[in-house]
Amino acid sequence: MPSEVFFIKVPDTTRNADVAERVSRLTDACGIGSTAAGGLKYMIKVHFGERGNKTFIQPTWLRPLTESLRAAGAKAFFADTNTLYVGARANAIDHLTVAYEHGFTQEALGAPVLIADGLVGENQSPVEVELKHYRQVYIANDARACDGFVVATNVTGHVQAGLAGAIKNVGMGLAGRGGKRSQHCDLRPDVSRGKCTACGTCVQWCPTGAISVSDIAVIDEAVCIGCGECYAVCPFGAISFSWSETSANLQEKMAEHCYGALMGKRGQHYFFNFMTALTQNCNCIGRAEKAMAEPIGILASRDIVAVDQATADMACTAAGEDLFRKMWPDWDYTVQLSYAESIGLGSRSYEMREIS
Ligand code: SF4
Ligand code: SF4
Repeated sequence: MPSEVFFIKVPDTTRNADVAERVSRLTDACGIGSTAAGGLKYMIKVHFGERGNKTFIQPTWLRPLTESLRAAGAKAFFADTNTLYVGARANAIDHLTVAYEHGFTQEALGAPVLIADGLVGENQSPVEVELKHYRQVYIANDARACDGFVVATNVTGHVQAGLAGAIKNVGMGLAGRGGKRSQHCDLRPDVSRGKCTACGTCVQWCPTGAISVSDIAVIDEAVCIGCGECYAVCPFGAISFSWSETSANLQEKMAEHCYGALMGKRGQHYFFNFMTALTQNCNCIGRAEKAMAEPIGILASRDIVAVDQATADMACTAAGEDLFRKMWPDWDYTVQLSYAESIGLGSRSYEMREIS
């Protein structure tokens, strides 16, 4: 049976009150106020944006999510987890500082902000999943402790998965440090001697200090965490990965972490995909990125696979081409959708209901 996906157009993102009002209408349509359970604790999972990024979801757009949960008698908090790499969000002190700088305050959101995997990302526990890649996955403890999720995702392309939608936001974004590390462990960059100009750009962006430059860039495999930043920033296309195998593996591992994070919530989850700033890279990139498409709108569903499938379909239809393959032509982003469906996370089949 197809899953229900609701959609509302957002043609203009410059007026925050108008976008928030549309989020409120979408929230009513998918029934959070009537189906969320009173007294339970819900995490509203967001991405606060790396320092320097400009295209993260604006906090004032999200206040209706707090209000709808409160209307149901539930408790809400906003959260993300620390990054694996060193940077502005690698520990809870720096991460919350960036969140506040970007406007994610209790005053704007109507709910407190937490870092779900603790001070340094080690507040995590294993969850038994017994799937193809993992018997157990490491999930942030506050994600395990909460009773349900509202997942708000700014949909983008992604350097390793092609598409960063709700599956990526949950699978990577709610993994603890151990879970993130294990998802990245297969990825190893290579530098092309013929293309590298020793410009040093990758050195500035590498979060672990794994790169040094002599006549060309040299990567220390013992220090590299496989994050893909060097690949994304090299102006000369001198970095490559064995993407055909590793991107598919990473997408499947991401889906398995997603499975572990959503387990045991008795279906208490809602997914909101914002197609308001479709950039090539995700909001972990600390610079202003140009959107590859005009704002389209917001989709919502209780099915994480259906909402990502509908998002991909709608973005590609609006662009008149496969936008995600255009952004990242070397790998197939649909692996995460088909694999997530195969392990029972949801359905790629959906019925779209547009909200006026
Ligand atoms: S950014 Fe590219 S060209 Fe510049 S040093 Fe790094 S690998 Fe070489
Ligand atoms: S993938 Fe590249 S940027 Fe990331 S840690 Fe390894 S060398 Fe550094």
